Amino acid sequence: VPIIDPAKLEGVHRPEILFAWVAAVGTPLEHLSRVLGDALRTHGYHPRTIRLSDFLKGFTLPTPQPDAEASEYRRLDHLMSRGNELRERMGGGEALALLGAVHIAARRPPEPPHAFPEQAFILRQLKHPDEAVWLRTIYGRAFHLIGVSCPERVRLQYLHVMRGLSESEARELIERDRGEQSKFGQHVARTFHHSDLFVELRGYDPASVADARGQVERYLRLLFGALVTPTRDEYGMYLAHSAALRSADLSRQVGAAILKPTGEVVSLGANEVPAAGGGQYWGGTRDGRDFVRGHDANAVIREEALEEVVGKITPGWSELPEDERRARLSEAARMLGDTRVMNLTEFGRAVHAEMEAILAAGRLGVPTTGCHLYTTTFPCHNCAKHVIGAGLARVVYVEPYPKSLADRLHGDAIAFPEDEERSGKVVFEPFRGVAPRTYGALFSSLTPEGSRLVRKNSAGEFDPAPVGLRIGSWPLTHVDRERVVAQAIQGVLPRSRPPEEEERNAESPQ
Ligand SMILES: [Zn+2]
Repeated sequence: VPIIDPAKLEGVHRPEILFAWVAAVGTPLEHLSRVLGDALRTHGYHPRTIRLSDFLKGFTLPTPQPDAEASEYRRLDHLMSRGNELRERMGGGEALALLGAVHIAARRPPEPPHAFPEQAFILRQLKHPDEAVWLRTIYGRAFHLIGVSCPERVRLQYLHVMRGLSESEARELIERDRGEQSKFGQHVARTFHHSDLFVELRGYDPASVADARGQVERYLRLLFGALVTPTRDEYGMYLAHSAALRSADLSRQVGAAILKPTGEVVSLGANEVPAAGGGQYWGGTRDGRDFVRGHDANAVIREEALEEVVGKITPGWSELPEDERRARLSEAARMLGDTRVMNLTEFGRAVHAEMEAILAAGRLGVPTTGCHLYTTTFPCHNCAKHVIGAGLARVVYVEPYPKSLADRLHGDAIAFPEDEERSGKVVFEPFRGVAPRTYGALFSSLTPEGSRLVRKNSAGEFDPAPVGLRIGSWPLTHVDRERVVAQAIQGVLPRSRPPEEEERNAESPQ
């Protein structure tokens, strides 16, 4: 029995939870929204959905609010533009999420602890990574982001058949939604990576929806404390993520893990600069990583390549003054920003995570034929060909828009789950399950604070009762909790000396 009842430190029993969705446009989310609401009710929580796009209605923006007669394409297109304009006006990608928080704040009970016990808010839906960052900043462990992947074919069909868009309109919106150039535009792909749970929705037929429902319900069972263990895929992706964290790459950290289909670990890899003798730098006396050399070689050489091209097509380039050349180059870089030329990764010094995992298996002499590869992003076309050549049978990735050149260049050798022709090909599948960021908190037999979760009775028999909400955010701050502790501790034991004397001792420990 603890000295202080933990419930007193929490301030409220069963605190509120906040969920948000992120999915590519055309994902039939309304089916899943219902599934999440139903699942929350079975755990005694009351769901309330908040549509972030509704907050756009209250603002005067350059693009008008779509009227009731507008076509579905026009409605979606206008909402996207208005979202961008609002983010730009307010000067932050998090604008709509903040309006969601303001909406909740305005409805809080006036009395402390101002909490909504057993209440779950469901936000539809995030479009910008800053929204995820800010919701996590405000709500901490009470916030759960669910990323839904859905095949492009299904999204196109849904927008076309169910929502009445023409095929070209549907394609245009999907392209736009993936990631716009402006920093205040839509960045669904980057937002997706912030998810706590990845759900795969293969279609909007009953079987696909039931499959997705199972994925959502399992997450809630885990969250509310049932004993659920990781799948092999969750284990593999967690290992890939742990490998990524060792990278000091100046652009991003990517990880990969190769496992036997039975779950044995063959090798791990991160994107990092190779070291002589095999493998990649770990630091130490001989260290040639990019941050040690002081720059990203890819960015430097890409700039040089741009200068070569602009120099060739600009008459009298070498005669132009230096500042004029700089100005023209930055203008060219701005104009070409979203073209393949400016996104070349050709000159990077890092060995990509997937390639390093393959090389590591080679150095160890372990065959990769028939193995599964887990990677924290979608493999680039360069890695894809090595994956095929290494004999890997299956690739599991995190990415809502799995369209790299991999498919176009190697469609003969790779397939997606929705493809009919899969046999003999390497299957690329979206990851489904608990994200590495939440894996530790939900699968550990300890609470995040380190207390052991009791799963058996005194006779050693398994107790199937869920242990309660595994992670959450309670309304008391650490200052409030100190006060609770101070009050509770009074009178627990008689003091041997007056509190003033104790204070003097505490101040001068020497
Ligand atoms: Zn790659």
